Amino acid sequence: PDNTTDIPDEVRARHEELCRELDDHSYRYYLGNPIVSDAEYDTLMGELRGIEDRHPVLITQDSPTQKVGAPISVDFAEVEHLVRMESLGNAFDTDELNAWGDRSAAEVPVGAYLCELKIDGLAVDLVYERGRLVRAATRGDGRVGEDITLNVRTIGVVPERLNEDVRPAPELLEVRGEVFLPVEDFEALNKRIAETGEHTPFANPRNAAAGSLRQKDPRVTATRPLSMIVHGVGAYTPAADGGADVAFTSQSQAYALLGEWGLPLSDRYKVVETMDAVREYVAYYAAHRHEPAYEIDGIVIKVDDFALQRRLGSTSRAPRWAIAYKYPPEEVTTRLVDIKVGV
Ligand code: NAD
Repeated sequence: PDNTTDIPDEVRARHEELCRELDDHSYRYYLGNPIVSDAEYDTLMGELRGIEDRHPVLITQDSPTQKVGAPISVDFAEVEHLVRMESLGNAFDTDELNAWGDRSAAEVPVGAYLCELKIDGLAVDLVYERGRLVRAATRGDGRVGEDITLNVRTIGVVPERLNEDVRPAPELLEVRGEVFLPVEDFEALNKRIAETGEHTPFANPRNAAAGSLRQKDPRVTATRPLSMIVHGVGAYTPAADGGADVAFTSQSQAYALLGEWGLPLSDRYKVVETMDAVREYVAYYAAHRHEPAYEIDGIVIKVDDFALQRRLGSTSRAPRWAIAYKYPPEEVTTRLVDIKVGV
């Protein structure tokens, strides 16, 4: 029923302008130099979604509503991910969270939800072959990322070799996680940067982590106290001759195995059985947002069982079996203005 010719010129022009602006903001954001706050970005995205809801004919594969991340830069070699890296759908209030819970429960019998912190860092993909770290990459556009192996090797908590004390390493393991700078380390880094004048101070820990990880010289990355917590698995082939043929059947069971192999896990995730308990977890961290040593911008809730995850599937950019509950923005904007970064 919708037809581009029925769409007023000003709506079409606004649509085009929003796509251009959002692409530009994404690009800057992934380089670690955003010029608008996340809340402003989310508002522009909301406006774009509104236009596309009213005029679905405007939705193209290239629209920011349909894509993951940003174009990759020419500074690094391209890496094709073994399994696509996705973004996450958002819930900005309890009604949106409940709607996600209702939708999932209507489609599959959800027995358990895994709740974890949404760390405000950047997604990194690690590939281990027979227990050895062979490659690390940024998320990029979800299919192709940037090869940052040398930089990731400088992160202390990322094992070069998987621990095989408990069980043999798998033939192939692609694991995803968030690289971040703990808040105290971020503050110390900015202080040092201000003293030496080597660089413009970073607006927040996320930008500092992004800027540090995307250094062309890994020796610079090595001076930045980056950390990582894993939150997902991509490709996986169990050990051929390890005796124990370990299969991943749920997110929480996968985490237990990743932990045995020495990968850095969060000690704050929780498996719960009901959406009431999910809401409690969300409320707890809304009130204790600064308890973790790193910045969080929300909570991620995942249907724990992998078979159910597969049944729920994904949209073009995000899994339907998970949702990010976003907390309202804090001092980000004031900080951007205070220290005059990127403005
Ligand atoms: P997202 O940050 O909303 O969610 C997806 C990402 O969350 C994943 O890729 C992963 O890296 C991360 N994550 C953290 N903890 C996780 C966990 N426990 N489990 C799974 N994933 C976890 O989506 P996005 O596509 O990366 O970026 C979109 C958001 O980034 C926007 O909503 C906006 O807030 C921000 N953004 C801001 C600007 C800007 O200019 N300020 C530009 C682009 C994007």
